[in-house]
Amino acid sequence: MNKGNKLYEGKAKIIYETKDKDLVIQHFKDDATAFNNLKKAKVEGKGVLNNRISEFLMLRLAEIGVPTHFVRRLNMREQLVREVEIIPVEVVIRNIAAGQFTQRFQVEEGTSLPRSIIEFYYKADELNDPMVSEEHITAFGWATPQDIDDMMALALRVNDYMTGLFTGIGLKLVDFKLEFGRLYEESGEVRVVLADEISPDSCRLWDIETNDKMDKDRFRHDLGSVEEAYQEVARRLGILPESGDGDIQAPEAVQ
Ligand code: C5P
Repeated sequence: MNKGNKLYEGKAKIIYETKDKDLVIQHFKDDATAFNNLKKAKVEGKGVLNNRISEFLMLRLAEIGVPTHFVRRLNMREQLVREVEIIPVEVVIRNIAAGQFTQRFQVEEGTSLPRSIIEFYYKADELNDPMVSEEHITAFGWATPQDIDDMMALALRVNDYMTGLFTGIGLKLVDFKLEFGRLYEESGEVRVVLADEISPDSCRLWDIETNDKMDKDRFRHDLGSVEEAYQEVARRLGILPESGDGDIQAPEAVQ
């Protein structure tokens, strides 16, 4: 699949057009940013790992009937996805108190929440992605009440499935962020589908035994071993061979 013009460059990914107007290429960079771009660095190999981890999770979710934009992985850093119109609302699901939630509500990190809590944030760097309510979303026309119902129903299914999946590999799914897009079918039908990525950049994952953080908080809070933590998540998901790096490096040419 040949890459066309760059359509959009975000903090961690680039979107390229393809010859097919319904498909775009999602390229994963090694760039890591936190606190709305105040902290920036390259994490060697992160893009490759997130490409693989997100592919794995999107495929498993599609198997249980969650519609996604994912088509197939093209190479180490790129995947082919359906072109969607991104809904400018980030959906965060929290199972355990961490991050912004602990500060906002003065709840101790690690406290199990009485039930999973869904929050919405308006995607706007210049405003620092403010938390918003359904009223804001519908009043400003970012999404319809039906879109919101669809996003919430899908988010809860994703949470149920991924909580079980990660528990099975010794990780707690503390919280995560999802993005959704509108897919315009040829029939004229419009569907809300899961888009963007699901990876340790967008999820908090803690080791069940030790509570070690295995996600982007290692980068945010200078805990070190960022790439190793992402590799360990990939290894436990069965994406990397037990022995280590696996195909993180491009295969060597046979002489
Ligand atoms: O920072 P906060 O506690 O609100 O993050 C909640 C979850 O959403 C975390 O898993 C974080 O990685 C994710 N998130 C994200 N992108 C953002 C904001 C939060 O992936 N812009």
